[in-house]
Amino acid sequence: MGGGIQDGQPNRPLPQPGSSFIDRIASGGEVDGAGSGSGTRGHGDPIGRRSPIDLRPLPVVRSASTQDYREIVDQAAAAFSVWRMVPAPKRGEVVRQIGTVLRWHKRDLAEVVSREVGKVRAEAEGEIQEMIDMADFAVGLSRMLYGITMPSERPGHRIYEQWHPLGPVGVITAFNFPLAVWSWNAFVALVCGDTVIWKPSSKATLSAVAAMKLIWPVLKSNDLPDGILNLVVGSGPSIGEAMIHDRRIPLVSATGSIRMGRQVAAAVGARLGRTILELGGNNAAIVSPSADLDLAVRAVGFGAIGTAGQRCTTIRRVLVHADSFDGFCASLIRSYQELHIGNPLEDGVHMGPLIDAEAVNAMQAALQQLQDQGGRIIYGGQVLSGGLFDAGTYVTPCIAEARADMPIVHEETFAPILYAIRFRTMEEAVANLNAVPQGLSSAIFTNHLVEAETFLSAGGSDCGIANVNTGTSGAEIGGAFGGEKDSGGGREAGSDAWKTYMRRQTVTINWSRKLPLAQGIEFKVG
Ligand code: NAD
Repeated sequence: MGGGIQDGQPNRPLPQPGSSFIDRIASGGEVDGAGSGSGTRGHGDPIGRRSPIDLRPLPVVRSASTQDYREIVDQAAAAFSVWRMVPAPKRGEVVRQIGTVLRWHKRDLAEVVSREVGKVRAEAEGEIQEMIDMADFAVGLSRMLYGITMPSERPGHRIYEQWHPLGPVGVITAFNFPLAVWSWNAFVALVCGDTVIWKPSSKATLSAVAAMKLIWPVLKSNDLPDGILNLVVGSGPSIGEAMIHDRRIPLVSATGSIRMGRQVAAAVGARLGRTILELGGNNAAIVSPSADLDLAVRAVGFGAIGTAGQRCTTIRRVLVHADSFDGFCASLIRSYQELHIGNPLEDGVHMGPLIDAEAVNAMQAALQQLQDQGGRIIYGGQVLSGGLFDAGTYVTPCIAEARADMPIVHEETFAPILYAIRFRTMEEAVANLNAVPQGLSSAIFTNHLVEAETFLSAGGSDCGIANVNTGTSGAEIGGAFGGEKDSGGGREAGSDAWKTYMRRQTVTINWSRKLPLAQGIEFKVG
């Protein structure tokens, strides 16, 4: 490792922002989806997708073959033996430089995200900002990987805990946050001294390739070996399965559907590996009679429509007191009517397309089930057509009146459907909020201290995230992010989530000249 880390500056110039970033990363319309740093490869199946915006073909990404995968994990294991010995604050300095490159390329990278998964520009730029925030957090964390000291019961003894790097960490990501979720894991793992092997969603491979093309030169310019940050594009059944069964990977952090989480938990658990599972959500917001309705309408609108309802933290259920139900729904409908749906790269557009036709079909099937179960659509839910909308990926977000006990309400449909449900008492509202298998995020809108505290108490929301007077989505990176029950139980990003990426070692030092044993045990031979 050269002087770059010491000086706080990279040794060699890093790539500068340009105008046609997507073309430059995939010259010739194809790009390798596997690599460890300097060289890239992709001997597996090519993945060719179309932009959900207009169905224009995106550059083809050549996925990793099984052989590519094996070689890359070997390289990640070899690099780990070097990286783990680099002092943590120096590892933090490398992450600081990565954050700088992301700042330079925020708009470029956001555009790749928008084109590939259809996020509106403001949200795509927000996703890159989240990576930058995560880098900043990790830089600070690199000087705060604290272990504690405990008093020993034995004279002349000291006991303390220290934290060591764990090994190569597997990171499996979903399509809807193609980059931010990787950075929650990767930047923390890096400062913890781990190497990272990333398998992105097959629906968001280009964003991953683009990010790595920017970040690999940072490692290179610090004279670090290949294998610290690795990319292995490939399907769940091929590369994903290889990763979860791979004993060289002590921790797999997997983000995606509950179905996928069960497979990952079973496979990694069977080899007694560690997992961080970030799975589906079915998030509810309670609107109490004391709530500021205007604020609640705005928050629920963003929470239900942001990322076209394709966030794990999307508000899917709004529980509204029966006395204010009609007024609340009428205001919400008015705000939905003012939405601009269209090309996510254009200014002023609030909602772009869904990821693909399959997602549109799943939304339509859920709305049919809702109606079969006695629910009623009160706004939207149509598939749009004409001009750009002929892509078949654009819908109007839907508000539906439902009951808490309908089976469809207990499922996560990854689309902008909001179930509006009446309640009479706060006990009923909290019970319904908790009555689903998922436990990711929750919110209450209230100006009543007792209601807020009841919601936050041990008998209140059973979710990993509980908010008051703000929606269920849009978490900041400083807190630990994750959910309970079928949402997986994992925690990522801020707070003390770093501890899962390290191994804890309890150390006892005897600095006396005697050998007292713990619990006063006497052991005398002869
Ligand atoms: P998905 O489950 O289809 O895929 C997620 C990832 O898992 C992909 O990379 C996929 O290839 C991989 N995968 C699938 N089967 C696998 C297997 N057997 N072994 C290893 N890897 C496998 O999910 P998706 O459609 O991309 O994303 C949407 C889902 O992700 C939603 O349920 C959403 O709530 C969830 N999500 C959760 C969070 C969170 O932090 N809790 C964040 C984002 C998305």
